[in-house]
Amino acid sequence: MYKQKPIIIAGPCSISSKKEIDNTIKNIYQEIDYFRCGIWKARTNINDFKGIGKTGLSWLSESQKKYKTPIAIEVGTPKHVEQALQNNITIFWIGARTTVNPFYVQEICNSIRGVDVEIWIKNPIHADVNLWIGAIERFKRIGIKKLKAVHRGFFSLEEKKYRNPPMWDLIKPIQKKFPNLKIICDPSHIGGEKSLLQSISQKAINFGLDGLMIETHSYPKNALSDSKQQVNCSEFKNLIKNLNF
Ligand code: PEP
Ligand code: MN
Repeated sequence: MYKQKPIIIAGPCSISSKKEIDNTIKNIYQEIDYFRCGIWKARTNINDFKGIGKTGLSWLSESQKKYKTPIAIEVGTPKHVEQALQNNITIFWIGARTTVNPFYVQEICNSIRGVDVEIWIKNPIHADVNLWIGAIERFKRIGIKKLKAVHRGFFSLEEKKYRNPPMWDLIKPIQKKFPNLKIICDPSHIGGEKSLLQSISQKAINFGLDGLMIETHSYPKNALSDSKQQVNCSEFKNLIKNLNF
C-alpha cells in the first residue's frame, strides 16, 4: 500500500517555442502536481541546443497563471535565479552537472537566501552520494524548507542498458540522513529511452520513492534535446494509469 499519492512532475526536457509549452501543458495539467520545463540547458557538446533562454520565462509565467500549475525550471547560475524570480518562477531544480560543484551550489544558495523558493536537488552525475548530501545540506543551511531530492541515475562506463544506471542502493544514505525529505525519481534520464520508463517508474514506486518526474513533450520527435527519452501527452497519461501504487 502506498503511503500517500505520489508527486507527479512532467513536462518537456526543453522547449524551442511557446506553442510547445502550450501544447504540452494543456493536455497534462490536470494529472500533474508540477510542470517542468528546461530553458537553459547545460550541454556537453557546444553545438547542441542550449535552450531558449530567458525568452521562455514570460511564456512559462503566462502558462503558470493560465493553468494554475506550479512550474519548475533548471537554474545553474545566480543570473538564472534573478531572471526567473522577475518572472514569478520560484521553483528551481539543480541539475546533475551543477550539483557536482560546491562553488556553483553555494553561489545559487547565496542568490536565494531569504527568498521563498522551492528547490529540487538532482544527484550529481557521478556516483558520489556525499556531494548530493552536501548540496542538500547547503540549501537546508540557508533555511530553504521546500526541498526535494531528485534521483536521475549515475554515469557509468560499463552500463549498456540504461543511460544512467539507477544504482538504487545509493538512495538509501539519502533516506537515512534526511528521513523527511521527499525523493522523486526521474526515470527519463535513467532510461534514456522511452520504452524503459514504465518499468523504472514502477521500481521507483516499489522502492518507496515519493514521486516521479517524467519528461513529456507534445511531439517528442521535434524536441531539440532528449528526444528519444520523452513521451507524448497520451503516453504519459498511460504510463501513470498503468502504475501500481
Ligand atoms: C533535465 O532534467 O532535463 C536535465 C538536464 O537533467 P540532469 O541534470 O539530470 O541531466
Ligand atoms: Mn532532459
